[in-house]
Amino acid sequence: MTRELKVHNNLTRKKEVFQTIEPGKVKFYSCGPTTYDFLHIGNARALVVGDLFNRVLKAFGYDVNFVRNYTDVDDKIIERAKQEGRDALEHAAIFVKECETDMNSLGMLPANHTPKVSETMPEIIQMIQDIIKNEKAYQADGEVFFHVPAFHDYGKLSKKDLDSLQHGIRVEVDSRKKHPSDFVLWKPAKPGEPSWDSPWGKGRPGWHIECSAMAKKFLGKTLDLHHGGVDLMFPHHENEIAQSEAANNCPFCNSWAHNEFLNFGSEKMSKSLGNVIKIRDFVEKYGGQVLRHVLLSVHYRARLEWSDEVIQRALDEVKRIHEFVMEVREYKASGNYSSPEISECIEKMMDELSNDFNSAGAMGHFFTFLRNVKANKDKLSQESLDQVKKTLSFVESSLGLINKNPEQVLSQLRKNEQDISSSDIDAAWIEGLIEERKVAKASKNWARADEIRQEMSKKNIVLKDNPDGTTSWMVQG
Ligand code: AMP
Ligand code: ZN
Repeated sequence: MTRELKVHNNLTRKKEVFQTIEPGKVKFYSCGPTTYDFLHIGNARALVVGDLFNRVLKAFGYDVNFVRNYTDVDDKIIERAKQEGRDALEHAAIFVKECETDMNSLGMLPANHTPKVSETMPEIIQMIQDIIKNEKAYQADGEVFFHVPAFHDYGKLSKKDLDSLQHGIRVEVDSRKKHPSDFVLWKPAKPGEPSWDSPWGKGRPGWHIECSAMAKKFLGKTLDLHHGGVDLMFPHHENEIAQSEAANNCPFCNSWAHNEFLNFGSEKMSKSLGNVIKIRDFVEKYGGQVLRHVLLSVHYRARLEWSDEVIQRALDEVKRIHEFVMEVREYKASGNYSSPEISECIEKMMDELSNDFNSAGAMGHFFTFLRNVKANKDKLSQESLDQVKKTLSFVESSLGLINKNPEQVLSQLRKNEQDISSSDIDAAWIEGLIEERKVAKASKNWARADEIRQEMSKKNIVLKDNPDGTTSWMVQG
């Protein structure tokens, strides 16, 4: 038996009762990272949200088939590999391993399948052939384009209307395209780039087709749930729908969920803006449990503003939880105390999670429970004590907010506290440079402004530009 769950479906823009094609089974796909560099904590948000969905669906009794891909063939990988003097596929393989290390540190459950583009070539080529056969794609000079006007449902996820997509105004339109919105399914490889044989000559796939092909390979033609960061809704997910439905002649996915951004100051955290904190660096300093806690402390559809306060709160809460877990090991039933805070906590958390995966709401109930148990620890009934243990194991399995090794979590937190109290950060020096950077920016001296940001970053100080024009700073990893 599965428990009822509501999910905000971006296809309808409504919160709906989640229904699966096969009773009790979920076909779930989440777009994974492009493996060209270390992941940042913005990427971690997408990964942890995918993991939350997987865990909660399991806790609700579903048998989940969870697929999360690695994009290991991509322009950014090719470019970075060239800079490093490596083969592109070899470079991507190195960062697949690094991603796995980060995911483990975030306490993520393994997905059922983690396909890579380089290992899905026959399925990708087959799918492009199917789309061409169904007259929704065409070939031009060794390149294959998806013909967007031939797919009448285009825009149904992003709610964009084809006519209003003002292509060709700022960017010059490729003259081989029949329509400015047409996008690449297959492109000829340039010398030195990874390439595969295909009916259109040696080449490699465009970005979007991989997810359509991988989803079909492991989940079939129609999925129950698809997830990714909100930036992927257009064009990536819109194009996934177009490709899959054009090839398979049936709906691609019934429910679409997107996580909001992790923002740093007034901007999205992203490599191109140069305001990233690597997962690796954060974890080294505070531990993965703290990062996971921050990411789940806000509903996945709300923006998460990264700040000192957010980190501090998570540090305090992770400490309280893990000290509590260790304390409970010593508890003995020595009275007849029971309370709704204890007996109903799991039920209340399930209610929150059934409301579009509201992890923040579930955490609120857990802290009410924790306070109540601590205040009455000397008089717990056997039944209450059993329920306390059950609740902890529920929080561990459905949210991953309890680490199997609390001693290790606490020892890292203590080490970090010592490091902070003995650090020699010169606040006046930082404030001086922030002022200098402000002047540099005002006189459009971007080079100096960037130099200051980098100089600080070498000392692990990250600058955050606030919406009101002020700049704050914090020490990281
Ligand atoms: P990429 O490697 O850039 O394709 O991104 C991998 C995943 O991370 C995608 O689902 C993105 O939407 C997500 N992502 C990237 N930056 C952020 C951010 N600042 N906040 C939340 N998700 C992000
Ligand atoms: Zn994708």
